[in-house]
Amino acid sequence: MPPAPLQPGTLYLVATPIGNLEDITLRALRTLRECTLVAAEDTRRGRQLLKAHEIDQPLLSCHKFNEAKRSGELLDRLSQGETIALISDAGTPGISDPGERIIRAVLGAGHRVESVPGPCALATALPTSGLPTEEFHFAGFLPHKSGARARKLETLDTVPGTLCLYESPHRIVKLMGELHAQWPEAEVVLARELTKKFEEYLRGTPEELAAHYAERKPKGEFVVLVHRA
Ligand code: SAM
Repeated sequence: MPPAPLQPGTLYLVATPIGNLEDITLRALRTLRECTLVAAEDTRRGRQLLKAHEIDQPLLSCHKFNEAKRSGELLDRLSQGETIALISDAGTPGISDPGERIIRAVLGAGHRVESVPGPCALATALPTSGLPTEEFHFAGFLPHKSGARARKLETLDTVPGTLCLYESPHRIVKLMGELHAQWPEAEVVLARELTKKFEEYLRGTPEELAAHYAERKPKGEFVVLVHRA
């Protein structure tokens, strides 16, 4: 039986690779091929992805600086029965990226939102880390300012399960210091460059991991998983 055609007036959340370009589903490719518009966090990256799969589609940029304006435009187009694929820079749109607010606006206006699932950095890192998965808490990126970060970590103290964070390479060492201050005995896994050539899982206490990076500069993308005893 052929797959059902895209449903008019729907926003499709299309997950795209977080590194390895093979990590894209047949359904994601069909959705990108058959939709009327691709809304992309970064149109340059979006165009590269489409080109790699020989898909020729109009792209509209939807990033954190224009999302309010773009949401209105997307709502108009959905009202006219368009089918829009939303893609983020990488992974699952709506997880720690501007997609979240667009999705809320689309749902708030009464339109359909449908997931085309696939890669997600959190879901990739957690099971492979070997840390408990039965219960976990994803807190995304911590705030940038030191005081706000400390306050946020304090609120996370009582949260059960493995704590999962996204962090930029520039703040990894700072984060290890903050984790050491809060949970010195914690078992931490740094899941780096997932699905890419230099994929790596580093394990240790926050202090050990900070020491690891005393000798080399942290590079690439990181998911940080913390098991507090
Ligand atoms: N929506 C995406 C997802 O969940 O799949 C995440 C978007 S967020 C703006 C980007 C962050 O995700 C990075 O800073 C990093 O913490 C994490 N990330 C994305 N790709 C990764 C990869 N290949 N390896 C490790 N972490 C990654």
